Amino acid sequence: MRVLINIIVGVKWLFCIFSVLIALARTFRLPAVNNIPASVVSFVVMVFLLSWLAEIILRPKFTLQVFMQFFGEVYLFICNLKKKPNNNSAIEYSLPFEDEWLVVNGGIDKENSHSWDIQAQRYAYDFFITDKHCNSYKENKYKLENYYCYNQPILAPADGVVVEIGNRCRESNIMRFSLLDAYKKDIRGNYIVIKHEDEYSLIAHIIKDSFNVKVGEAVKRGQLIAKCGNSGNSSEPHIHFQVAAGSSFFASNSLKINFKNINLKLAQDYANKYKRKPTSFAPDGSHISRGFFASNKGTSCQ
Ligand SMILES: [Zn+2]
Repeated sequence: MRVLINIIVGVKWLFCIFSVLIALARTFRLPAVNNIPASVVSFVVMVFLLSWLAEIILRPKFTLQVFMQFFGEVYLFICNLKKKPNNNSAIEYSLPFEDEWLVVNGGIDKENSHSWDIQAQRYAYDFFITDKHCNSYKENKYKLENYYCYNQPILAPADGVVVEIGNRCRESNIMRFSLLDAYKKDIRGNYIVIKHEDEYSLIAHIIKDSFNVKVGEAVKRGQLIAKCGNSGNSSEPHIHFQVAAGSSFFASNSLKINFKNINLKLAQDYANKYKRKPTSFAPDGSHISRGFFASNKGTSCQ
């Protein structure tokens, strides 16, 4: 089933690109397109539509999430037009792991953000464990066990109550050409949502059945809650951590996470390794940004 879904999704995107190119070429009346028989154009569009239909039939819940994400963003856009949201978290958080991890994605401004255009994930972070040269695995990159952060403890980032756990995804495979494994039931993979007063933290891509806590249980800052994995929309094992103003993953404003008692150390090889511009962030004591090694004060550093 995994192979079949990956083939169908691959065909869908390929023929989606062909369809868009043909549409653009026709719009701008490029002469080469006039020579393509109408039957070929129909074939391209039909393959795209049929592969999309097959994808919807084979993974309906995931497809529904894609639409929910879109409509959640529309909802937030309209709400935020009426009232400018407060984007700052009022709670102080700890990093949700032991020792030192690399902040690979995330920041508090557009340039460094995890995904600025997705309001619900604007201030999210992706954390990897790497060596000092920012390598996140040893030897064979297609084996999850070879990633330094795989199966490592995930800790509660602050005191709170567990309000939601998702635990129905197997691990995603590491794919070639930086593609994402299409075989998944949830964008988040396995995840946990913790309520901290009026804010909600979410940690995603957890290993199935690795949860140490249950829904309704009170957790303490630093408590072991699960293990880091590669479930859901994940290119390699990592922790995705975000805080939002509401419990809905798709329709809540993302909050700038206010960290307390953290160490930050610039990762010299980050920009080269991840083909990104060096971070423009200047540490201010409570926020973090991509391109830094981060740890909670009092935990050992590599
Ligand atoms: Zn992420």
